[in-house]
Amino acid sequence: MKLLIMGRPGAGKGTQAANIKDYYKIPHISTGDMFRAAIKNQTELGLLAKSYMDKGGLVPDEVTIGLVRERLAEADCKNGFLLDGFPRTVAQAEALDEILSANGIKLDAVLDVNVPAEKLIRRMVGRRVCKTCGATFHVEFNAPKVEGICDNCGSPLIQRADDTEATAKNRLEVYDNQTAPLLDFYSKKGILKTVNGDQPLDKVFEDIKESLK
Ligand code: ADP
Ligand code: ADP
Ligand code: ZN
Repeated sequence: MKLLIMGRPGAGKGTQAANIKDYYKIPHISTGDMFRAAIKNQTELGLLAKSYMDKGGLVPDEVTIGLVRERLAEADCKNGFLLDGFPRTVAQAEALDEILSANGIKLDAVLDVNVPAEKLIRRMVGRRVCKTCGATFHVEFNAPKVEGICDNCGSPLIQRADDTEATAKNRLEVYDNQTAPLLDFYSKKGILKTVNGDQPLDKVFEDIKESLK
């Protein structure tokens, strides 16, 4: 299974990717998670990425493409993968096509988790993530059993630096300008599967499984 998951910021890509990863037993490759790990480790990549992420802009294509190229070359991607948050620009999508075709690989499907833009600020501002295991919660829509504590591992939950109202608005604009055109790109290839992401979490996953049958 070689998949992409797309959707506006806050649409539920990471949440559904965790389900897909367990169900189909494929690695989950999130460029956002990779950048956040680099920031945490204070690497050069992290420093660079942070300067863009803090404003809600995109990390430059050449950096992002290089990162994904290296990750896809790792052994665990041989039998499948789920790319989350990449590609986000036409240049990234074209580069991905090149990387895949050079390796004789074709994407099986591109999932688009569709949620109206006006619902997404609330999703982003209320998002809480586990410091240790990366699990995602929401203060209203997917609250942890104990406030501020991860259900999976007991670590504290934190708010992402870019989940403020102003930055979230910027990210939605960037999506419309730079990423939305990719839906047409994949639709023309005949592999785009649009799923209604404006439903309870479990129902969204049911619809994803159905669309991949
Ligand atoms: P993305 O990776 O697309 O930015 P997330 O998976 O991190 O999105 O979800 C954004 C926020 O919305 C999280 O707090 C998450 O718990 C919550 N969320 C995800 N899916 C749903 C849903 N179907 N309904 C309500 N809230 C959701
Ligand atoms: P979300 O889907 O909620 O916006 P992500 O974790 O996918 O969150 O991305 C967070 C930030 O990381 C983005 O706003 C952007 O700055 C950076 N980023 C992630 N993926 C890419 C990418 N493919 N190209 C450029 N920047 C990226
Ligand atoms: Zn945890």
